[in-house]
Amino acid sequence: MPIQILPARLANQIAAGEVVERPASVVKELVENSLDAGATRIDIDIDKGGSRTIRIRDNGKGIPKDELSLALSRHATSKISTLDDLEAIVSLGFRGEALASISSVSRLTLTSRTAEQEEAWSAYAEGRDMDVQLKPAAHPVGTTLEVLDLFFNTPARRKFLRTEKTEFGHIDELLKRIALSRMDVTINLRHNGKTIRQYRAASTQVQKERRLAAVCGSQFLNHALAVELAHGDLKLSGWICSPQGARSQNDIQYCYVNGRMMKDKLINHAIRQAYETSLPPDRYAAYALFIEVDPHQVDVNVHPAKHEVRFHQARLVHDFICQGLQSALIQGADEHEAVVAP
Ligand code: ADP
Ligand code: MG
Repeated sequence: MPIQILPARLANQIAAGEVVERPASVVKELVENSLDAGATRIDIDIDKGGSRTIRIRDNGKGIPKDELSLALSRHATSKISTLDDLEAIVSLGFRGEALASISSVSRLTLTSRTAEQEEAWSAYAEGRDMDVQLKPAAHPVGTTLEVLDLFFNTPARRKFLRTEKTEFGHIDELLKRIALSRMDVTINLRHNGKTIRQYRAASTQVQKERRLAAVCGSQFLNHALAVELAHGDLKLSGWICSPQGARSQNDIQYCYVNGRMMKDKLINHAIRQAYETSLPPDRYAAYALFIEVDPHQVDVNVHPAKHEVRFHQARLVHDFICQGLQSALIQGADEHEAVVAP
């Protein structure tokens, strides 16, 4: 076969292989877009584990009519425009891939209205390589993305979808992670027409702890030690369990860097080292930790799903987390003793 440029649709479907693994990955991309748009309320409606419908409605700033079709194109983003921007990412998205990828493997409708516009507009794309059709629509300021029949045109991928329950479980777990990281945003989740989760926006400490308990369970809250530390631009906050609150599974391990969920080896290592010998054998730490670092000091463009980061001062970050958590654990142990001592 001679060398040839792939048709846009096929190129997008190949890219979709990296971004869109299952319904939960679609939900992740769309909710992150809503958060980047400044939404304070996000409603998520799922049918059949997401294989039939994923509908996400937000009250963010919306997309202007003349940018709707561009939003569905590959490498089209409003979030960065220069290499300098790429080196100091403050938004969750930046590659301009998600909507193009998702629309290449589903029937996608994008409806949006900005505050400046009198009416809303809708863009429809199916397996996207035709012109996007725009139609007037009814919608308050904000955006709704509706994704129907995920992988309808890529049967090999559709076959890999698990049961409705499993796929919905992934979505639920993902939204827990997001609900923790953005306590200021109301998030509602429905499945097959039934309300499953209602995370109300929290601002006071009491409300935040209620939300923490809603995600991590009240048992975690009972054993949680609050963490709040800073070293120059580096900040660490959140909750860790006392050794008594350690779990038999590693099911409550939430970690964020600049608001982005992470499964990062360096961070995990620092946390494990902080507990060192204080964890009983076969027990796992539970934590919800938020790391804030100058965006220039961290590279988020190292992993397709952005799960890993590269800290420029890796050693410093590692030791800051480890020592910070150690002192929180020691302080927690002291307080515990003070309470039980007569
Ligand atoms: P990225 O998030 O990497 O920029 P996406 O393909 O996810 O790329 O989105 C493309 C563009 O569409 C975004 O840069 C943004 O301008 C716009 N967009 C997508 N979703 C929303 C939304 N819910 N509200 C407002 N704008 C959105
Ligand atoms: Mg995005």
